[in-house]
Amino acid sequence: MKSGQFVGGPQVAALEEAFAQYCGAAHATATNSGTSAIHLALLAAGVGPGHEVITAPNTFVATVEPICYCGATPVFADIDPVSFTLNPGRVESAVTERTKAILAVHLHGHPADMDPLAGIARRRGLALVEDAAQAHGARYKGRMAGALGDLACFSFHPAKNLPAIGNGGMVLASDEEGHAACQILRNHGRRTWDMAEVVGYNYRMDAIQAAVLNLRLPELDASNARRRAHAERYFERLAELPLRLPRESGDVEHVFNVFSICTGRRDALRRFLDERGIRTDVFYPVPIHLHRAYEHLGYAEGDFPEAEAYCRETLALPMAPDLTDDDIDDVCDAITLFVEQADGASS
Ligand SMILES: *Cc1c(COP(=O)(O)O)cnc(C)c1O
Repeated sequence: MKSGQFVGGPQVAALEEAFAQYCGAAHATATNSGTSAIHLALLAAGVGPGHEVITAPNTFVATVEPICYCGATPVFADIDPVSFTLNPGRVESAVTERTKAILAVHLHGHPADMDPLAGIARRRGLALVEDAAQAHGARYKGRMAGALGDLACFSFHPAKNLPAIGNGGMVLASDEEGHAACQILRNHGRRTWDMAEVVGYNYRMDAIQAAVLNLRLPELDASNARRRAHAERYFERLAELPLRLPRESGDVEHVFNVFSICTGRRDALRRFLDERGIRTDVFYPVPIHLHRAYEHLGYAEGDFPEAEAYCRETLALPMAPDLTDDDIDDVCDAITLFVEQADGASS
């Protein structure tokens, strides 16, 4: 605050350098949110009116909005029922003449299956963009989320694995050209103070958020390790119950921004836990193609059976680095009791 540098400046530049290095990416542009990071990445990928961008229906609306900001059309492809991320086969069949990019969501911190997606992108001449808003520190075949596509987008919203004390985001770019586009568009389309080269945006990060993130970035690995330890405890305690637990695909390191189980009795279990003071969440109850705002795209219920089943059954159990083993055990005890009572009632 004494420096008087409130927007952009050395704290933001230091964060860009440190975060790019952490992810093993070439270039970074800090932004004022994850949503604007996705918007910049799509613009940098050349997405514009008349184009289509393929993404998953089971995500936060912020994945899809920026496609529309670009004047392009969101096209959904169904997910793989184990990783809950884009099914590359479905993506392949959704590609048309108008497709410009694939926007892969690393849902809940589990990286999408990027190698086959990169293969499709290469063969069809598409950009591959990561929505890594929930996946800081996740790994895919030894490589970090953020360095798996042409461009990658992060959020530093307080609910994410690397939390600011407000909004913030980042675009990582693998090439100079994409990076330059992000830099110019973030700052009112200007390369120099006096001249707007293109119509840009005010998507700059506040220095106070960068200062907080510079302090927190060195703690990210330890905090992800706590999340993974909690997940391990859930796996051990819940393995025998009739629930579908999240799974790590081979050679993936999940960072569990959310620990989400699937059960056909989702709403009953949620009420049962709520009555015992255990707060759960549902990310996300309605797939994007069934939101009112996206009716004009012309999709209907039944179009994406795996994503729709996921949205019907998903339940996010308590997950945060500062939970204790006892907290996790309390949740597992309550879920076990729910299953026993349900079994008793049905026998
Ligand atoms: C949080 C989130 C975003 C948007 O990030 P904001 O910083 O809230 O704008 C985008 N995509 C996904 C998958 C998210 O979880």
